[in-house]
Amino acid sequence: MISIKSQRELDRMKKAGEVVMLAHKRLEEIIAPGVTTKELDRVAAEVIRSKGAIASFKGVPCPYGGMDFPGAICASVNNEVIHGIPGDRILKEGDIISIDIGAILDGFHGDAARTYPVGKVSPEAMKLILVTEEAFNRGMAQAVEGNRIRDISRAVQSYVEENGFSVVRDYVGHGIGQEMHEEPQIPNYVSPHRGVRLTNGMTLAIEPMVNAGTWKVNVLEDGWTVVTADGSLSAHHENTIAVTARGPEILTALY
Ligand code: MG
Repeated sequence: MISIKSQRELDRMKKAGEVVMLAHKRLEEIIAPGVTTKELDRVAAEVIRSKGAIASFKGVPCPYGGMDFPGAICASVNNEVIHGIPGDRILKEGDIISIDIGAILDGFHGDAARTYPVGKVSPEAMKLILVTEEAFNRGMAQAVEGNRIRDISRAVQSYVEENGFSVVRDYVGHGIGQEMHEEPQIPNYVSPHRGVRLTNGMTLAIEPMVNAGTWKVNVLEDGWTVVTADGSLSAHHENTIAVTARGPEILTALY
């Protein structure tokens, strides 16, 4: 069942999205060699709480029987794709870190991810970050009434593969609203399912996860951290967007 949001509800989702992006902005300012991922989590949690919102990810049950997710953010470094647990790891020059933040405010979720360079990174790492962001843009451009979910998937996959990288298959984007994960699923690759037709008022988290090497991934013993199977770098770019009569609109933005 896909929920269709009214303009009023979209306005509420923008408020949640703004909290998410305030947290991102703050983290972007402090990400540097020497900082721990636990410190990033503490700062993001503080921003979210100060705005009267609740971190969406904290306490989510583990799909593989591990602990409930302990962080306000997911912090995934280098070969980690998504769902990295914030901890004592110290960022070092040349790392890349994918930060995923979700917040619920006034009954609605916002969800956005970015991959940040730590200090100066290799040209290959920078290319991966930029291709992942542009893949999101290409996907979002297809989020217009009358298109199918698969139009988004195709745009993401073809741009990523043209650039010599691969898209993760095991994890996908999703509808979002009063629940963090709603229908429909939004694969970043062309699947046999063309997916539903898009209509105005749908809200979607489009989130390319892009690996420098193989698309294959593994989950670590902690039951959360997803890593590339070949140890290659991975990047993640996500926004919550709305399909509207004016075209696709990003809800995770600062206004
Ligand atoms: Mg998401």
